Amino acid sequence: MASTPPLNPGADVLDPAVMQDVVTGDLRLDGTQAMRLFHEMPLQELGRWADARCRHLHGDQVRTYVIDRNINYTNVCTAKCTFCAFRRDGHEDDAYTLEVEQILEKIQALVDIGGTQILMQGGMNPELPLQWYVDLLEAIGDRFPGIHVHAFSPPEFIEFIEFFDPPGPTLAEKLRGVMGTLAKAGLRSVPGGGGEIFADAVRRKIGLGKCDAEAWLTVMQVAHELGMNTSATMMFGHIEGVADRIHHMELVRQWQEKSIVDHAADGGGRYMAFISWPFQRENTPLGRCREWEDTGDQDAAFPGDVVARLDGSGTKDAHREFGRRIRMSGATDYLRTQALSRLYLDNIYSIGASWVTMGPHIGQTALAWGANDMGSVMMEENVVSAAGTTYCLSEPLICHLVREAGFTPAQRDNAYRLLRVHGNGQSPDLQVEDWSTLRAQSLHVETTCGGGNDNEVALTIGGDH
Ligand code: SF4
Repeated sequence: MASTPPLNPGADVLDPAVMQDVVTGDLRLDGTQAMRLFHEMPLQELGRWADARCRHLHGDQVRTYVIDRNINYTNVCTAKCTFCAFRRDGHEDDAYTLEVEQILEKIQALVDIGGTQILMQGGMNPELPLQWYVDLLEAIGDRFPGIHVHAFSPPEFIEFIEFFDPPGPTLAEKLRGVMGTLAKAGLRSVPGGGGEIFADAVRRKIGLGKCDAEAWLTVMQVAHELGMNTSATMMFGHIEGVADRIHHMELVRQWQEKSIVDHAADGGGRYMAFISWPFQRENTPLGRCREWEDTGDQDAAFPGDVVARLDGSGTKDAHREFGRRIRMSGATDYLRTQALSRLYLDNIYSIGASWVTMGPHIGQTALAWGANDMGSVMMEENVVSAAGTTYCLSEPLICHLVREAGFTPAQRDNAYRLLRVHGNGQSPDLQVEDWSTLRAQSLHVETTCGGGNDNEVALTIGGDH
């Protein structure tokens, strides 16, 4: 990893020479400069700089995807996030916890299509003892030694501390005990779920019962210390201000810096990827908030922007409508935010495109706005699809989208090593003779991929539109 780029608060980021230094990693953006880029730089220009930075890091040729499977092992959860339509109380009729054998069957289906990892997350279920997790991980390791287990987000680990009460004087020490046990049983890396927005004022409103930013970041720090890689996420486009998004990225950058410095010599882990996506509102309490309308009136600013501070210190008292109005994110806001993340997070290797919520074509477009990775072939998704439409793509479709965007698709593993580069006729997309049978599918609530044609959405193949 190159040394930390210097800050230069006086540099004018609308000057191409300054942005060229950002592209080459010779200048680090600060929060004020990021705000300027977000608000003042034309969308296409911001995309071009993010693309240039992406090409500087990842070259001009290959863009990646992974074949993994989301497994949501339980929907029972002690938290009550207002953006969540997935959680259930333990006594509700449709509350579930999967049996170990059901989870193993899902992994077998993944292995059958050439998958390499599972992303396993759940609600925070107080009925499951630590041994349940140990047995599950060992069973997976015994049956599928080649499958990488990417599992349990930071809020789950914080609840594990509550549920299992491990010994130790500090949170980090307690985490070392639980995370070390699970790592020994087969956990390989930690996904960045539950990041949402770190600023306290926002987090307290939308993440009821969920850990604060400091605890979230401490989980990841301990994971890095134990040699596990992690990812970071951000869910935006609700009550937060733009400064909150930048503050969120700043914390990820700072804590990544710490992990890189602390573990430069001992093979520790780090944040490998940052993935951001807009809030999906259907079936959620938060989604029932009135939508804010931009009238252009300076005195009627969005409450989230009035409250937000670049150092995260904003308080809800700054605006009486804060938390009651939402500002949903559309395609351009998404692309702008993702482009900014590529430029701001100069110490994060991968920026993932969010076609799962934004749809295949915006996901494909995101490859020109700083993303180098298309994420996962989606076999199943339960959490976000409970709150709105999400999409489902097969491997040939992902490869097609990457190729049509001007790149060579390549399957990667969790550590972003290339497994198969599809530069020749053997590529999954180049084997397809009849695209009419292979279409992107939309998922919502209880639908799953492969469930027939009812939930298909048209995906243009061959660039004929
Ligand atoms: S988002 Fe996760 S932690 Fe929050 S209520 Fe839903 S399942 Fe629980």
